[in-house]
Amino acid sequence: MPSFKAILVEKNGETQSVAIKAISDSDLMDGDVTVRVEYSCINYKDGLAVTGLAPVVRRWPMIPGIDFAGTVEQSSHKEWKPGDKVVLNGFGLGETHLGGWAEKARVKGDWLVPLPQGMSSLEAMAIGTAGYTAMLAVIALERHGVKPDHGAIAVTGAVGGLGSVAVALLAKLGYTVAATTGRTGEAEYLKSLGASEVIDRAELTGKVKPLAKDRFAGGIDSVGSTTLANLLSMTRYGGAVAACGLAGGMDLPTTVAPFILRGVSLLGIDSVYCPREQRREAWRRLALDLDRSRLKAMTSVVPFEQAIETARTIVDGKLRGRHAIEIASG
Ligand code: NDP
Repeated sequence: MPSFKAILVEKNGETQSVAIKAISDSDLMDGDVTVRVEYSCINYKDGLAVTGLAPVVRRWPMIPGIDFAGTVEQSSHKEWKPGDKVVLNGFGLGETHLGGWAEKARVKGDWLVPLPQGMSSLEAMAIGTAGYTAMLAVIALERHGVKPDHGAIAVTGAVGGLGSVAVALLAKLGYTVAATTGRTGEAEYLKSLGASEVIDRAELTGKVKPLAKDRFAGGIDSVGSTTLANLLSMTRYGGAVAACGLAGGMDLPTTVAPFILRGVSLLGIDSVYCPREQRREAWRRLALDLDRSRLKAMTSVVPFEQAIETARTIVDGKLRGRHAIEIASG
């Protein structure tokens, strides 16, 4: 049986190791669709999986990679046939089901969405789960009724992957974007993506007041903890904040004041088990509402051989923008 390359996370006692290995079809898990993976990418969660800093991996050996884009090779699922271009985000990929950092993946056809017309596999993974989650957050703000003329939208962790895509999406949709970052030296980068204002994240990491000066009409947060609590207390009457991440911590030291005195809403965003129609809508919207030249400007393409090393650095908050992994360009 021909072998193909995969990155494997293995565990020997308490010691975790990660390396490129040769595996074969019989090593893949059950599923009704086999996909030739062209690109995957590096998300924060992949960094946690590779470093073992959080219990993301719940089956060993595991192929990391919570997403991929590629071409269907075999299918017994009614919706997919060989040659179809597909994208997958979440559903336990890289956590409980063998993930995208391999030349092949076998998955459930129900987990796949079509690669949007006119979008390449590389662009899909330049967006990746971080970008698709940013789109879910923008849609959540829109559904809440937050409009461009209501005022600035704060994006926290703006130089990161989710933050960079959120800035570019909001700007293209006509919102004024206040990008908050610990890397104010990246102000020009953030402005090139469409940010109107760059705020030092220190302004959102101080002691949390129940209510602070109302600066923002809404927010997209990838940081959590004190940052999210401060953002809530700085949100205007009737505004909303989409909580997407925990790069700064999982706690939320807030009070009920923003909710009961300003009618602020906290919108939870989950990409992993997001219902199928919503994920399809998010991908359709990404094809329309994300400026491709800005996507290109925020993306680095990482060779497969450098994926492990690059993923280790994302948890230190040092990567800028998005990092697609070239597996086999399609
Ligand atoms: P990145 O590492 O690319 O971005 C995270 C950014 O957060 C960093 O670039 C940095 O931005 C900021 N940051 C990092 N550490 C801290 C800190 N200690 N305090 C304050 N800010 C910090 O990761 P991703 O964009 O891939 O993911 C962002 C978050 O979103 C993660 O927590 C991830 O788990 C979550 N996520 C959630 C999803 C969901 O389904 N809800 C899906 C995808 C991601 P800067 O330098 O600009 O300050």
